[in-house]
Amino acid sequence: MGGPFAARKHEKGDLFSRIGAFLVEQGLSPEPAHYTFAYDILANPDGAIAQAVARLTDGGFRLSRSDIEKLGGTVHLGATTTLAEPRRTSRERPSAAEDEAAKLVEATQAQVDGFTTMMREMQDETRDFGRDLAQSAAAIGASDSADAAAGTGLDEIARVAGTMLTRIRDAETRLARATHEADTLRAKLAEAHDTARRDALTGLPNRRAFDEAFAQRRERDGPFCLAICDIDRFKRINDAHGHQIGDRVLSAVGRALGEECREHFVVRHGGEEFAVLLHGITLADAAMHLDGARNVIANKRFRLREGDQPLGQVTLSIGVTAVHADELIDAAFERADRLLYTAKSEGRDRVCAA
Ligand code: GH3
Ligand code: MG
Ligand code: MG
Repeated sequence: MGGPFAARKHEKGDLFSRIGAFLVEQGLSPEPAHYTFAYDILANPDGAIAQAVARLTDGGFRLSRSDIEKLGGTVHLGATTTLAEPRRTSRERPSAAEDEAAKLVEATQAQVDGFTTMMREMQDETRDFGRDLAQSAAAIGASDSADAAAGTGLDEIARVAGTMLTRIRDAETRLARATHEADTLRAKLAEAHDTARRDALTGLPNRRAFDEAFAQRRERDGPFCLAICDIDRFKRINDAHGHQIGDRVLSAVGRALGEECREHFVVRHGGEEFAVLLHGITLADAAMHLDGARNVIANKRFRLREGDQPLGQVTLSIGVTAVHADELIDAAFERADRLLYTAKSEGRDRVCAA
């Protein structure tokens, strides 16, 4: 019976090392509180906490800070804890878009090399042409008989010019082909640039685009506020209706948020989280605007397309903070994240601003 912890009951290794492995798996530092939490689960694999953890970690997910706290554990976000937001600090595997971009960079390099070779060949040919012409002219000048010289010279010039004409036509054809390839490549590069900055599920820009927009913000467009919006109890939607329906809800929420904040920069930052960079707005107005968006989404009646079954209310918790001049993104994010956490702990479906 039971989940992964029940199965591990019979595994080799003592309780101590299994606790160690659990802490590493969940990115928890070896604090006494974390150790106690792990001990409670692993020493009693059929107990209620172990069963709840098994359900929450189904599919290889890490426990979130709120999961642990709901289960009666405590999370210490000390220097040794690796739990702190793996979504922002971990190195991610290159995405398909990044692989595609790498291929395009290679293709561009090959194109540039091709152009360089072509130009060098054309320069060599022009030089040969010049030398042949000079030789023909010298031959005409050196000849004893003017008529003979004119005849031989013209023949020679016609031959050199004919060869050169063929070469020029050939070079033109190659140049036209290369130009066409370069145009195709330029279009593909523009597309890859866009794909690398767009989230495929929601169609919104992604975290990379957000980081760039944040770094490139101009003082004259300010003041700026940064918000993190996280769907409440999203795991329940997945659990109740499956991942595919979860995806659809995520997409619908993203669209609605994008629509409600259309003057600002809305991205899917990862998972069921969206980030908004608001510009030209005070913190109080940003909070009011976001609360309006939150309200619109909370009042949407999401239904399953199949059978028209209601999905229930989908709500957002939002943390929003004013961005200081010259501030780095991590500092602003950390503040917004803490405010989001406050919004969650105060009951969700609300905006917390500071
Ligand atoms: P909270 O109110 O505390 O935010 O609860 P929550 O359930 O929303 O938060 P938690 O962080 O525990 O779970 C987030 C869930 O979001 C877990 C994960 O399966 C789900 N999720 C993340 N990305 C996607 C996605 O692209 N599609 C689907 N369907 N689910 C996703
Ligand atoms: Mg989340
Ligand atoms: Mg959530």
